[in-house]
Amino acid sequence: MSSLLLIGGRLIDPANRLDALADLLLCEGRIEAVGEGAAAKAPPLVERLDVKGLVVCPGLIDLHVHLREPGQVSKETIATGTAAAARGGFTSVVCMPNTSPAIDNAGTVALIHERAAEQGVVNVFVTGAITNGLAGEELAPIGSLKKAGVVAITDDGHCVQNNDMMRRALEYAKMFELPVMDHCQDYSVVTDGVMHEGYWSTALGLRGWPSAGEEMMVARNILLAETTGGHVHCQHLSAAGSVRLLREAKKRGVPVSGEACPHHFTLTDAAVAGSEKFWGGDGKAIWAPDSSRTQRPAWPAYDTHFKMNPPLGSTSDREAILEGLVDGTLQIIASDHAPHSNYEKEVEFDYAPFGITGLETELALALMQLYHTGRLGLSEVVAKFTQAPARLLRLPKGTLNVGADADVTVLDPDREWVFDKAASASKSRNSPFHGWPLRGKAVATIVGGKKAWVDQTQMAGGLLLTSNTGIT
Ligand SMILES: [Zn+2]
Repeated sequence: MSSLLLIGGRLIDPANRLDALADLLLCEGRIEAVGEGAAAKAPPLVERLDVKGLVVCPGLIDLHVHLREPGQVSKETIATGTAAAARGGFTSVVCMPNTSPAIDNAGTVALIHERAAEQGVVNVFVTGAITNGLAGEELAPIGSLKKAGVVAITDDGHCVQNNDMMRRALEYAKMFELPVMDHCQDYSVVTDGVMHEGYWSTALGLRGWPSAGEEMMVARNILLAETTGGHVHCQHLSAAGSVRLLREAKKRGVPVSGEACPHHFTLTDAAVAGSEKFWGGDGKAIWAPDSSRTQRPAWPAYDTHFKMNPPLGSTSDREAILEGLVDGTLQIIASDHAPHSNYEKEVEFDYAPFGITGLETELALALMQLYHTGRLGLSEVVAKFTQAPARLLRLPKGTLNVGADADVTVLDPDREWVFDKAASASKSRNSPFHGWPLRGKAVATIVGGKKAWVDQTQMAGGLLLTSNTGIT
């Protein structure tokens, strides 16, 4: 196997509190040496990457991705979804079980592992369902799912409504040391809501989705985590009240955690009223005055690319999520990458499916909202994509420890670029961020010591020179 020497980059490894200019040597799929002496240890035929001016960090992990395989391969496949992940800087993704059939048995887990090994561009970790068919009626065989290799259980896309069943799920999962992840949605409160219940749902005449629909399930999960001692991870939190509940529970030592998605801490429900309403109001906060030379992206009212589950919240929800990320209440950032075909989204707002793609824009939006605004340091942002998800799911990933898997992301936090959905590696195009000027980008994604993806423009720009010289 080949070896790779990354020279002169800024190494950021939050798990080891490392943030320094240093070389990194990868050999035989493992991290061989970090810092001084790495170059000296390199074998004669090492491939060299000049990464001066770039950040080198543990490979990013996205623990909330819908790969749609098996059963919905017109939207995405393991091949295309993991290709999009590599472009976004992710070396590992965790796929959700709401496929067709659902991932509620060991056979389907094995099928995904097999396809991922054949066709995956990055590592794929699998979650199993909490209930059979995600129907919420009977528990899935949690023990055999664990044996088959799932890293967590969740009914994502759905939410277990029966509180006693959720309690039993937590008790079983605890026996098998599996975290339970929950898509928090109380159906009796949300009913057929399609967007956040507030001023804009009234103004637009769309059915409202009250924040309480999420908050009630967060509260339920906290109480059950406390009762059972089992860990509950609340997925894609969107409401200020959810962050408040989680903060209070974590302070008391309840085994709960939460994740945030870039669309929830960038956009608000005003976006559903069209770009003019958004940029004239809630969007002002995210448009830096020095970007005035760039044209603001435009979209019409009722654009279904702004329909997701849970829906975009108000400005105070967006602010609360950012605060939660800053104070550590929310330790994990994930995309909830949810591909849908054009024909499915090109219908009236009420009828469109919920969900957007996100793997390729996720890192930039996180850097823009957290790092470039000065809310968090670079290492703290990187931790939310590496150390924190690895710890939650007990993945042997997320650090640059010597001997660890050689999963590495090289990124340029200041790189300015425009996202073009037509150039996406995903099979689907349902991103609300088409045409957005972004800041921060992955430029190389290395999985198991091999380059899974390298930004060709970066190569052309001469910043990332590779050579296969034996001269050291
Ligand atoms: Zn979900």
